[in-house]
Amino acid sequence: MRIAIAGAGAMGSRFGLMLHKAGNEVILLDKWADHVNAINKSGLRVNYNGEDVVEKIPAFFPSEMEGYKGVIDTVILFTKAMQLDDMLQSIKPILSKDTKVLCLLNGLGHEDTVEKYVDKENILLGNTMWTAGLIGPGEVKLFGNGEVELQNVYPGGKEAALEVVKVLNEAGLNGIYSENVMYSIWRKACVNGTLNGTCTILDANIASFGATSVTDKIIRTIINEFAAVAAKEGINLDSEEIVNHVKSTFNPNGVGKHHPSMHQDLIKNNRLTEIDYINGAVCKKGAKYNIQTPYCQLLTELVHAKEEILIAQ
Ligand code: NAD
Repeated sequence: MRIAIAGAGAMGSRFGLMLHKAGNEVILLDKWADHVNAINKSGLRVNYNGEDVVEKIPAFFPSEMEGYKGVIDTVILFTKAMQLDDMLQSIKPILSKDTKVLCLLNGLGHEDTVEKYVDKENILLGNTMWTAGLIGPGEVKLFGNGEVELQNVYPGGKEAALEVVKVLNEAGLNGIYSENVMYSIWRKACVNGTLNGTCTILDANIASFGATSVTDKIIRTIINEFAAVAAKEGINLDSEEIVNHVKSTFNPNGVGKHHPSMHQDLIKNNRLTEIDYINGAVCKKGAKYNIQTPYCQLLTELVHAKEEILIAQ
């Protein structure tokens, strides 16, 4: 399959590398000049489960893609949520009537953005439990295991979705065809919506946040706000199961010893966060459906205040 990775940062590099190693024709698209130049000069340098690997994968700026319409079978979107619209705008030249576009970003509401640029029949939505970390230009760290759930959002696209699942499986990315990917997307958003903003504002790892006397109330209230809004969109979240799932991350000997990615983005790397697409998206949708979402609203505002204090970019 001819695949363009649109956003070749941490996650894009993981997917690009694994799909390339499995024999697909992969190109990496990114606007970060140092990164693109480093990959083209010295290859993508990867610490892959502790082993150092260098792989030659062609990298381009999206602006170099004029004239490539119809060449790419599948685009995999992997920008941060607030960068998605810009990315879609800049890859318009490679999107033909047959190009499938798989969106794997964290957060809610991306289908509305993708639909502005891509025919509904070609849109695949997904959710991934893989992780990845950027070390510097041209260099990433990949560890652990994961899977990718995806689904065609509109009827008729199932065959294309199954084809992408097959390609992901051949690359060891553990693709799963989901009959209800929106449920999985909302469930993951609940996990991010309870842990990311809170641990960022409290400057705490997951275990420390999990151990406080008010954590149970905070996570239940946030999940109930998500569930009330999701129900208006026809998604009936099992709040109790999700509360227990979030609590299962509190073990200090497991995931609990880590800070969530938003903490790393803002506190460690001084980068803007995806809060508007997690708790912020629930507030926005809540306002549309006349549902109060005070915990999500306060958390969104606090994270924005912290971004301003730290002059995040
Ligand atoms: P990242 O910041 O490492 O990568 C994003 C890349 O997109 C950057 O290299 C950036 O230069 C590029 N980019 C952004 N806008 C662009 C544009 N207009 N044109 C060209 N290039 C552009 O982010 P990431 O950590 O890989 O995360 C991507 C998505 O995956 C996010 O939604 C994140 O929440 C989600 N996610 C991340 C992880 C993880 O472990 N990193 C795990 C699961 C899901």
